[in-house]
Amino acid sequence: MPLDQYQRDIDYLRISLTDACNLRCVYCMPEHMAFRRPAELLTDAELFRLITLFARLGFRKIRFTGGEPTLRPGLVQLVRHAARQPGVRQVSLTTNGLMLDQLARPLADAGLSSVNVSLDTLDPARFRELTRWGNVRDVLEGINAVEAAGLRLKLNAVPIRGVNDTDDAIALARLTLEHDRQVRFIEVMPFANNAGFQTGHIVRETELRARLEAALGPLEPLHAGKLDGEARMFRLPGARGAIGFISPVTSPFCAACNRVRLTADGRLRLCLLRDDEGDLRELLRGGATDQELETAIGAAIHRKPWGHNLASDLIPASRGMSEIGG
Ligand code: SAM
Ligand code: SF4
Repeated sequence: MPLDQYQRDIDYLRISLTDACNLRCVYCMPEHMAFRRPAELLTDAELFRLITLFARLGFRKIRFTGGEPTLRPGLVQLVRHAARQPGVRQVSLTTNGLMLDQLARPLADAGLSSVNVSLDTLDPARFRELTRWGNVRDVLEGINAVEAAGLRLKLNAVPIRGVNDTDDAIALARLTLEHDRQVRFIEVMPFANNAGFQTGHIVRETELRARLEAALGPLEPLHAGKLDGEARMFRLPGARGAIGFISPVTSPFCAACNRVRLTADGRLRLCLLRDDEGDLRELLRGGATDQELETAIGAAIHRKPWGHNLASDLIPASRGMSEIGG
């Protein structure tokens, strides 16, 4: 099992398959975003090879993300390859859900374990406002397809001050009353290309929790208040599902971090919110052996930074969230 310099077990790889997207969520990227040229992205063959190496190094969990990972034509084959690696226990996907109507079944057949769908509001007009042109109906159809395919599902929402942080958030939380679903609220984080908007529109966990409790009743802590992954989980009175808060800004969970990220252009990003990266694409395209790649990956993991430094206004400058793989 790879250990970093702070003795944390690093066994979770998040792979961004593309920085491109079919939406332009206002908190994630500017409307006129320039995406990388295809030649800059890792090929499927390069990804197959890296996935095999990470599994051999002891990685247990792999998540495909982006940008929008369902835009990648080889997604199903990549999931199948990851799910077949000895030692890999969980292969999951984070998506905006637009394409799941078509893809949920083939992904389940390929061995996908679970899907996180991003859904910031149930209101069609507000959804269009937040995504710039999306249709919430497509996401809801995708969610139905995920459930029909028997995949585990979590819904993720990013509350944005003055946009979807009151009625919309309450409506999403209310979904847990009747459905055995997890709805998780994520604090918006600042990145290079959008930091002004992001820091100006953050809704802190304490504030949102108070608002949800005032509308829906007391939130009972689950798991004795301990983190479930990166989320603190709660249940509304009598609810079937659970509500989570992922609060990297006001309650960093760096001490329990077990992940690194592979960007679509082949950089191993050691912390979401720090710019330190290792270039695996250059090694791959320069003819490195498997042994040389494993050594480079191990060395990069070893120097993984302790955590972010947002409290000291250190904001990642090199990439936005969609270019890293959230
Ligand atoms: N396109 C896919 C999606 O939306 O699920 C996958 C990539 S997206 C970058 C992954 C997650 O990051 C989404 O849940 C999205 O809402 C969230 N996200 C985007 N920008 C963010 C930011 N600045 N802070 C916190 N979460 C963000
Ligand atoms: Fe695209 Fe996901 Fe970013 Fe929205 S949050 S613009 S769907 S990458």
